[in-house]
Amino acid sequence: MPDAPTMRPYMAFAGEPEHGAVLVLARDCRDAKPVAYGLLMALFDVDYTEVRVRRLREHRDWLLSLGNPRHLAAGRAHGLIDVPACTACGLWHGPLDADGRCTACAALQVTEAA
Ligand SMILES: [Zn+2]
Repeated sequence: MPDAPTMRPYMAFAGEPEHGAVLVLARDCRDAKPVAYGLLMALFDVDYTEVRVRRLREHRDWLLSLGNPRHLAAGRAHGLIDVPACTACGLWHGPLDADGRCTACAALQVTEAA
């Protein structure tokens, strides 16, 4: 059996990522874009040319763990709309602590409490 292809996480959005972004797991950005378009089109009125995909270099294992294991093993690009987001800043980019906060917000709170 051949090795599973390397899958990478991408953040996909149209316009600004703060207005709504989806997570796409794919082999490369060319592979990610059609999936990104399909997901974003369901959420917003977007044109294919407006779709941007940005490789996420941090927390790759965590982001991949959100994906579908069968699709990942088969090297099939897919994505998800409901990524667990930080309860404080509303962004998703990495693992959350027990209170649902990202590492940046959790660190901020510790500093404020000190
Ligand atoms: Zn946060």
